[in-house]
Amino acid sequence: CGIVGYVGPNDTVDVLISGLRRLEYRGYDSAGIAVLDSSGEVAVRKRSGKLVRLEELLEASPVAAGSTGIGHTRWATHGGPTDQNAHPHLGDDGRLALIHNGIVENFAELRSEVDAAGIELLSETDTEVVAALLGIEVARLGDLETAFRSVVARLEGTFTLLAMHRDEPGKVVSARHHSPLVVGLGEGENFLGSDVAAFVGFTQRAVAVDEDNIAIITADEVRITDFAGNPVAFTEYEVAWDA
Ligand code: GLU
Repeated sequence: CGIVGYVGPNDTVDVLISGLRRLEYRGYDSAGIAVLDSSGEVAVRKRSGKLVRLEELLEASPVAAGSTGIGHTRWATHGGPTDQNAHPHLGDDGRLALIHNGIVENFAELRSEVDAAGIELLSETDTEVVAALLGIEVARLGDLETAFRSVVARLEGTFTLLAMHRDEPGKVVSARHHSPLVVGLGEGENFLGSDVAAFVGFTQRAVAVDEDNIAIITADEVRITDFAGNPVAFTEYEVAWDA
């Protein structure tokens, strides 16, 4: 439902939570974040219910956050609003995290591939199947971007997807198909969001990602390609926002 991504030197947990807070108006039933923590592992905190429940969890179980993170508020379509079904979902034995807005229509077919690979799923969501498949593809193809393109090309339905991998810190990959995605441009930091509310407290320079494109952000760089990986030119605009 609501999506935020961040790469940069600031407090990643704080950036994600404040982004999710500004996206609350859309409605949701669960919330969660994944960050690459200071030891280089993917740390996930997620809970059903309101954002304040996630904040309580973070207080009880803090994350020593590094510079890369993704956050999600969920509006359940596949599987009830439980802690386990909340996003992010993990793949590649916990080395990658993924969040998703929308519905993957062909998830049952993809799920049989995941089952055949002997991967055990922990949720009832269509999204976790995508996370598992991305893990399989990272192992097969060797890097996150190539694997992400391969997976995205196979999905039917609607999606905004964000993913990050432990072995490629400082990078978040994203894609959209019949679901919105915006990049926020900062100085030495960059953002992703399902709408500009995700980052407008931090930057008002935005790039609208076009249908069927992939956006890859690091702290210093934004690249946009089509699903085949061909570079796509983009222009930024100033968000009109009275804070
Ligand atoms: N289909 C996904 C789920 O049920 C994503 C729902 C959403 O857009 O928040 O978990």
